[in-house]
Amino acid sequence: MGAELTEKTSLNDLSIIWKNCLSRIKKNVTQMTYNTWFLPIRPLQLEDNTLKVELPSQFFWEWIDEHYNSLINKTISEVIGPDARLSYIIDRNSDEDSEPANNHNETNEAIVKEKPKVKHNFESYLNTRYTFQNFITGEGNQLARAAAGAISDNPGGTSFNPFFVYGGVGLGKTHLIQAIGNEIVNKFPDKRVIYLSTDIFTVEFVESIQSNRVNDFSNFYRGMDVLIIDDIQFLIGKEKTQDLFFHIFNTLHQSRKQIILSSDKPPKNLKGLDERLISRFQWGLTADIQPPELETRIAILRKKAEAYGMSVSGEILEYIASNITSNIRELEGCLIKILANASLSSKEITFELVKKTVNEIATDRKRNNINIDSITKVVCDHFNIAENKIRDKTRKKEIVQARQLAMYLSKEMTNASLKTIGLHFGGRDHSTVIHACTSIESLKENNKSLREMIEDLKNQIELNTT
Ligand code: ADP
Ligand code: MG
Repeated sequence: MGAELTEKTSLNDLSIIWKNCLSRIKKNVTQMTYNTWFLPIRPLQLEDNTLKVELPSQFFWEWIDEHYNSLINKTISEVIGPDARLSYIIDRNSDEDSEPANNHNETNEAIVKEKPKVKHNFESYLNTRYTFQNFITGEGNQLARAAAGAISDNPGGTSFNPFFVYGGVGLGKTHLIQAIGNEIVNKFPDKRVIYLSTDIFTVEFVESIQSNRVNDFSNFYRGMDVLIIDDIQFLIGKEKTQDLFFHIFNTLHQSRKQIILSSDKPPKNLKGLDERLISRFQWGLTADIQPPELETRIAILRKKAEAYGMSVSGEILEYIASNITSNIRELEGCLIKILANASLSSKEITFELVKKTVNEIATDRKRNNINIDSITKVVCDHFNIAENKIRDKTRKKEIVQARQLAMYLSKEMTNASLKTIGLHFGGRDHSTVIHACTSIESLKENNKSLREMIEDLKNQIELNTT
């Protein structure tokens, strides 16, 4: 470490350097742009003229890179020197599924978080962005929120152990369980708190097997005061990891350490998970999170808009909240997109812009949800043929036609590859799919009723997927 330390800039100097960069950037952009795109950047390290920063999401990076690349390069070369480079990592708790992004071949994923009051010799992986203060409570999450508060007052000491939170995508499970962790770290700085996703837990476990360190791995987690594991449904199908987790769970529970878990379904619906685990998951408190009602959605939007320094009218907030109803992540994404569009064109946030963005989000969602199976179903219903017939080898004219249409629509409406599409229709070759697509396209040219039929089918497919 000694030699390294001389080359690295101390955290304190780093913060001064970054402030210097920010103040220069601020002079070159609007207040809104500054608040949105530059304030959330966190400097992590300056080493060998490379400034490493953490960004909230991949989208963030792409946006900054596309629009402010030269401003950033200019600024860091003024402040740090002509050889200065920027590398970045994506916050590992970020909402996006994307891989940690690399720039300048940077692969180091170590994250330097704010200094904890007590220095533990491990990383808690909590994202300080997730707090109770910015978690809005409504009918759908009231119970979960109340229990979360009680647990952070008295970790391991309530009957809510384990605390098992479940609910749909983007409804705040990760936010809530990390907020508990952050609150405990603040209130009880000597408690050992760790947050991790089930995937990371599994990967670390596999690595520990490979390096013959399973005992170290297991003891490390048995030594925690608070163990928070996200998306526990991903333990399904991983028998060895389940087995190890079972033992860790028992040790922690017996010594009254707090266990907090999240999942997309309640314990009893985790088909394929070891029964012993399912029954233990039900020992404490199971709380669900339901989609927020309109008022809560508006309150969430208002809070987020404030946080981004945006001024948005109540009417607009209501419009967004009425049209995006089932996912808080989408609400947030919508706001960021609106902000991005407005800040790029230095335009005001108009109703038209808002409508356009809400539509785009709805279209993206549909596109993500439409799959070959849902297309096949609609096409088969339309032609009144059984779904297995469309995969058969038969060359009957009406079945061939239905199959070609379904292939064509799959190509048009999903991101599936030709190979995948072929596989779905009775293991046909990708050239068969190309042939289907080109023949439908050429038939369409001179056939009005076919064009109309395709439009009808598309509408039906979209209607079936919301
Ligand atoms: P999940 O883990 O259930 O998929 P997340 O916790 O990642 O959902 O939440 C998605 C986004 O919505 C996050 O940015 C989170 O901060 C925000 N969010 C969710 N619930 C709330 C809430 N009740 N108040 C404020 N923001 C919320
Ligand atoms: Mg989550």
